[in-house]
Amino acid sequence: MPIDATLPYDDQNIFAKILRDEIPSSRVYEDEWAVAFHDIAPHAPTHILVIPRGAYVSWDDFSARAGEAEIVGFVRAVGHVAREAGAVEPGYRLLANIGADAGQEVPHLHVHILAGKPLGPMLA
Ligand code: 5GP
Repeated sequence: MPIDATLPYDDQNIFAKILRDEIPSSRVYEDEWAVAFHDIAPHAPTHILVIPRGAYVSWDDFSARAGEAEIVGFVRAVGHVAREAGAVEPGYRLLANIGADAGQEVPHLHVHILAGKPLGPMLA
């Protein structure tokens, strides 16, 4: 069920629970700013989600409220995970859904890294 990205942060969302290790995930990377794990229902041979450790509903929330160190740390983590996944060549896609019309389902910012096959046209 797509979410309303303007709602306050809900610390019971599934990715908050993954961050707190209350539910399992297959982590591929973590640092001070970000955690990355495999998507449970992959849409490509490589489908990794990268989330900030901070409590942000969406990219909109993150870009408005996060500090500069958090933003730099998160962006660098996304790039690092993609490189470590071997996705830079022949290429990969970053995707962040924000709110109901984009189909965002989990109300904690996540960037999808999709790779491992030709991904086709971006726009639906
Ligand atoms: P959204 O549509 O919000 O951009 O993407 C949410 C993503 O989270 C989906 O691709 C979905 O498969 C993934 N997801 C949902 N629940 C879980 C979970 O419990 N564990 C993992 N690893 N991924 C999940």
